[in-house]
Amino acid sequence: MNRLPEERLADSIVASRGLFAPVDVLSLLSEYADVEASDELHQHGIDGLLVDNGTGGRRPTVYFDATVHTVRQRFTLAHELGHLLIPWHVGTKFCTPDEAPDGGLEEEMSRELADVPHRLEVQADRFAAALLIPQRWVLDLRSSSLEDAIGELELANVSLQAALRSLAQIRLSGTIVAALDDSSRVIASYRSPGTPGSGISNGSRVPREVVDGADQKGRCDYLGRPLVWFTFDQVPSHTPQHSWRYLLSAILAKRPSSDRPRLWASAAAVSSSVNSTAALASTVADTATRIRTSFRLNADLCWATDDPLFEQYAVSRAWAFTNVIDTKADG
Ligand SMILES: [Zn+2]
Repeated sequence: MNRLPEERLADSIVASRGLFAPVDVLSLLSEYADVEASDELHQHGIDGLLVDNGTGGRRPTVYFDATVHTVRQRFTLAHELGHLLIPWHVGTKFCTPDEAPDGGLEEEMSRELADVPHRLEVQADRFAAALLIPQRWVLDLRSSSLEDAIGELELANVSLQAALRSLAQIRLSGTIVAALDDSSRVIASYRSPGTPGSGISNGSRVPREVVDGADQKGRCDYLGRPLVWFTFDQVPSHTPQHSWRYLLSAILAKRPSSDRPRLWASAAAVSSSVNSTAALASTVADTATRIRTSFRLNADLCWATDDPLFEQYAVSRAWAFTNVIDTKADG
C-alpha cells in the first residue's frame, strides 16, 4: 500500500513506540511541546494553534480548543504534532511570533488562518490520521467481520469520517457503510472501490438498490452514531475507467455521422441479446467475451472489434450488465 511521506513518518513513530489504539496523543505531544487548553480559539473558528515551531530556540506551545468533543481535540493535537515533526513544516511561516513581536495570541490566530498553505494542512491531517489509527493495528482487523472491525475502530477514538476512511485499508471491495442522522439520512458514507452501484450522497437515504441488492446487511453504531452496513459477495474484478456509453461514442465517432444512430441501435440490440441470454451468475469476463463474439458475427458491427477501444467497451458494457446499475456517465 502506497504511503505518503507524512504517513510513513507517523508509521515509524507508531512502530518505534509500539503504539496501538487508543494512542495517548496528549502525552506524546507533551514530549515535544507545552500543551495548553484554550477557550479563546473557538471564537476564531480554529481548533488548534502552534507557537514557536522550531524557531527562536524556544520550546513550542500548542493551544487547543478544549470546548469541542474529545475526538476533535485528539485530532487537533495529532495535527499540531504533525506540524512539529514533519521536517519540512519546521520553521515554516505560520505560528512564528518572531515575525509578530507585538502580536500576541490574537495575531497568531489570524496568521494561522491566512498564511498556512493548504497543502501543509492536508499533510498534517494525514499525519494525524495515520498516528491515531495505526496502520499495523488496522491491518490486524482484516480478518474480523465488518461489524467487529467497526467496533474495534471505536477504540481509536477518532472521528467517524476518519474511521470510515480507514476501512479503505481493510475492506477492498464489496462494502458500503453509511452513518445516519435521526431521520435516517446519510451524513457520511464509505463505499469500497468496485462495489456495485453509484455513490451515496450525503443528505439522501441509502438507495433502494443498495438495500435490496446487498448479500449481507446490518446495523451497528460508532461512538453513539447509528450506522448501516452492506456487503456484496459478487464483486466485479475491477471498475471500468470509462462508461460504455463514452467508449461506444468514441468508437462510432470514426464512422460517418449519418450512420451513427443506426450503429448505436444495432450495438444496443446486440449487447442486450447477449445479456438476456446470459446465465444469471455470468462473470464480467464471460459476458465481455460473448459481446465480442456477437459483434464479430454481426455484419453491421464486425469492424468495431478491431478498434483499440473495443476491448474496454466490451468489459465496461458487461460490467454495467453484471452490476445492474450503470456506471456513471463520464468522460
Ligand atoms: Zn495546521
